[in-house]
Amino acid sequence: MKPLRNVTARHTYICKVPHGADLLQTLTEFCVAHGIMLGRVEAIGAVQKARIAFYDQSARKYEHMELARPLEIVKLAGNISVKDDRPFVHAHVALADRDGRVYGGHLAEGNIVFACECIIEAYTAAPLERAFDETTGLGLWKDDIK
Ligand code: ZN
Repeated sequence: MKPLRNVTARHTYICKVPHGADLLQTLTEFCVAHGIMLGRVEAIGAVQKARIAFYDQSARKYEHMELARPLEIVKLAGNISVKDDRPFVHAHVALADRDGRVYGGHLAEGNIVFACECIIEAYTAAPLERAFDETTGLGLWKDDIK
């Protein structure tokens, strides 16, 4: 494994996602508005309802799961890179119910925020682009070491 980017400079934003907002859309819009082409995101909080996905490696497609109830965001972790010439947020999330059971997966659109605190780190480096990967069927980072 070789590092694709060596990052030394960064800018950190500490944000509150509005009540009722779509979590993934809000994160993406923030990155577009601030020109963030490389970075990471983490968040905690709660959603009013959730929508996550699991990638079926054999069928090479995402299966979505709707959780139509309040859940805690135990941890959202993700990265920001470039897909189709615009910022693309790829995040995974662990969500807990009132009994502490945790559901997790790929963050899809459809997670409606109850309250959410997030930290976004923007890196100053060459943008890292995603491209279709034949082996996995996913849009993965191109191996252009800069
Ligand atoms: Zn994913």
